[in-house]
Amino acid sequence: NREWHLLSRPVGWPKPEDFALVEAEVPTPGEGQVLVRNKYLSVDPYMRGRMSAAKSYVAPFELGKVMQGGAVGEVVESRAEGIAAGDHVLHFLGWREYAVVDAKNAVKVGPTAVPALKVESGDVPLSAYLGVLGMTGLTAYAGLLRTASFKEGDAVFVSGAAGAVGSQVGQIAKLKGASRVIGSAGSDEKVKLLVDEYGFDAAFNYKNGPVSEQLRAAAPDGIDVYFDNVGGDHLEAAIGSLNQGGRIAVCGMISVYNNTEPAPGPRNLARLIQTRGRIEGFLVGDHYDLQPQFVQEVAPWVASGALKYRETVVEGVENTLEAFLGVLRGDNIGKMVVKL
Ligand code: NDP
Repeated sequence: NREWHLLSRPVGWPKPEDFALVEAEVPTPGEGQVLVRNKYLSVDPYMRGRMSAAKSYVAPFELGKVMQGGAVGEVVESRAEGIAAGDHVLHFLGWREYAVVDAKNAVKVGPTAVPALKVESGDVPLSAYLGVLGMTGLTAYAGLLRTASFKEGDAVFVSGAAGAVGSQVGQIAKLKGASRVIGSAGSDEKVKLLVDEYGFDAAFNYKNGPVSEQLRAAAPDGIDVYFDNVGGDHLEAAIGSLNQGGRIAVCGMISVYNNTEPAPGPRNLARLIQTRGRIEGFLVGDHYDLQPQFVQEVAPWVASGALKYRETVVEGVENTLEAFLGVLRGDNIGKMVVKL
């Protein structure tokens, strides 16, 4: 049973020396617990925050201890009612091969466990519960529909658009009647994918020129919604292109996660006055009441192919750190997962 420990708090970009893959005993489940053999581990940008000591909405990872994260696995031993060996569960003890999970923190997944999926989407891969039908999917759904108050006819701009959250934001907006969907991403290959496969109306590579100019060209009539995954010059550009009554949902700011100094803020905030614009941050954890509605609406789109998704799958627990660093670098298309 191998598990990843955090040895020291990274300064700037995390370095391999900050972590160790440690050999540990396979744990034994107690009363009310299950032993899970993890099959997919989630690596997510927010984990960078947990590697720091700074107070935040989730506690920092503890030094010298195994890290945590979303995971899906197979129950190999159960001492809990309602969960049997052979069941698949979603839980929060990732970054390891085997986990003992309290039954109350394990959610059964798979077509037999989620009736809406059984009926509507057949057999989705287990990894989908970490991505398109999981945390990142709900983030896209809640952030767009609730925080950004999306409505039919809105022109929507999303950054990080080829990533797990961003690709779903753009497609949900299209499916719900956006007048125009624009995405930005960090490679020409990703930009092509957005337009050709995901049906975005326009997309650009933010590395090819100033974001504000590229956004103005892609959205000559302005934008009503900006879904921010990136921060920095993307946010300033979005404020610059915001229409009257525009809304900005701040989901993430990945461009600053490895900064050692605070990044400068947008210089054009005064535009929010004339546009009556609104900027609002949100956390997916506050929106789990939308989960049933999200699954009911999105699972059929996934099943029919109306909503497309990709995953970047890295193999082997020993490559989990590389996979995590890959997300920060932009190696991934769609949700990055580690397959064990
Ligand atoms: P992604 O799958 O989008 O992966 C992250 C992507 O960010 C990379 O693929 C990379 O793509 C892009 N990126 C990296 N550095 C930069 C940079 N400097 N400027 C612009 N883009 C960059 O991850 P997720 O979909 O899981 O997460 C997307 C965002 O949503 C993150 O900011 C994350 O923190 C946030 N989030 C927030 C939640 C909440 O509750 N508020 C919940 C879940 C996620 P590229 O090649 O395009 O650069």
